[in-house]
Amino acid sequence: MTLLDVTDLKVHFILDEGVVCAVDGISFHVDEGEIVGLIGESGCGKSVTAQAIMRIIPNPGRIIGGNIVLRADKGENIDLARLDNKGKRIRSIRGGSISMIFQEPMTSFSPVYTIGNQISEAARIHRGMGKREARLLTAEMLNKVGIPKASERLDAYPFQLSGGMRQRAMIAMALCTSPRILIADEPTTALDVTIQAQILDLVKSLQQEMGMSVLLISHDLGVISEMCHRVAVMYLGRIVESGTVESVFENPSHPYTQALMNSIPKMSRRSGDLSAIRGSVPNPFERVTGCPFHPRCEHVMPGRCDQGRPPERVLVDENHHAACLLHAPTEARVGGRK
Ligand code: SF4
Repeated sequence: MTLLDVTDLKVHFILDEGVVCAVDGISFHVDEGEIVGLIGESGCGKSVTAQAIMRIIPNPGRIIGGNIVLRADKGENIDLARLDNKGKRIRSIRGGSISMIFQEPMTSFSPVYTIGNQISEAARIHRGMGKREARLLTAEMLNKVGIPKASERLDAYPFQLSGGMRQRAMIAMALCTSPRILIADEPTTALDVTIQAQILDLVKSLQQEMGMSVLLISHDLGVISEMCHRVAVMYLGRIVESGTVESVFENPSHPYTQALMNSIPKMSRRSGDLSAIRGSVPNPFERVTGCPFHPRCEHVMPGRCDQGRPPERVLVDENHHAACLLHAPTEARVGGRK
C-alpha cells in the first residue's frame, strides 16, 4: 500500500538573477515497508525533493505545483504541499510520521545542548512522554543504534562524539518517534568507508525491525543497489529513469543512467581512462529545451531530442520507465506505477 505519493512536484527558487527550477515535475511513490532510492549528481534536485516533503525548503524556494500525499495513521490522505509550512499539522508530521537523517550531523545537532536532551525532546513533543520516560527511551535508542555505554552518552555534547557516533545519534533521534517514513539524505557521505557500511547495515536492520519505509537519497550507485527495492534517477530536476533496482541496474535504459554506470571504476579494468560524461551540468538559470540531457547525450538525435520534452516510456515492464526518445513511444505515467 502506498504511504507517500508525489505527483508532478515542482519547486522553484525565484531569485533576482532568474528562476531555478530545482524540481521540475517529478512523480514517484513510496510503499509501506519499502526502500526507494533517489540518485543523481549534486544539484539534480534530490535534497530539494526531501526538503519539499518535510516542508523545510529554504527561502526563496517555493512549491509551485504538484501534490505530496501522505497516507496518515487513520487512513486519511494529507497533501503536505498544501499545508502551511509553519502550521501545527506539518509540525506534528515533521519528526513524527516522517523523520529525516541529514548528511552532516555536526550541523544538524545544536552544539549547546546534550545529545540526550535533544533526542528526548523529540520523544516528548511527538510521543507526549514525560521527562523521565523520554530519557529512558533515549538511552534505549542510543543502545539500539550501537552506541556503547549509552546511558553515559546521554550527557555528552555533539562535539564530544566521533563522526560515526554522531550519525548514529542522529538515527536514534529520527527513530525515537517511530516514524512511518524515514528520509535519509546522503546519510553516509561525511563518513569513512567502514563506518559507512556499519551505518547502512544499521538503517537496513532497523527498517526491517520497525517495518518503516525509507526514502534514501544518494549519489552513490553502490549504496542504492545494496539498500533499495526501487530507484529513481534524477537529472536537472526531473526523473529520467525509474524502476526496480534489479531492472534498472541490469538494464539501464536512459543514456544518463548508462553513463553513470560506465563512470564507476571496475576491478577488471586495470588500465585506460575512466569514462566521464561529456560536458557539464548547465547553468541553473538556463532552461534546456527538449530533453534536459541532450547537450551531453552520446545518442542525441538532432531535430528530435532538442525539441519537445520526452515523456516517460514503458520499457522492460510496467515497473521500469525511461524518459528517452530512443525507446518505444508507449505513453506511461511519470514515476511509473500505472
Ligand atoms: Fe539522449 Fe535523446 Fe534520449 Fe535525451 S531523448 S537521452 S538526448 S537519446
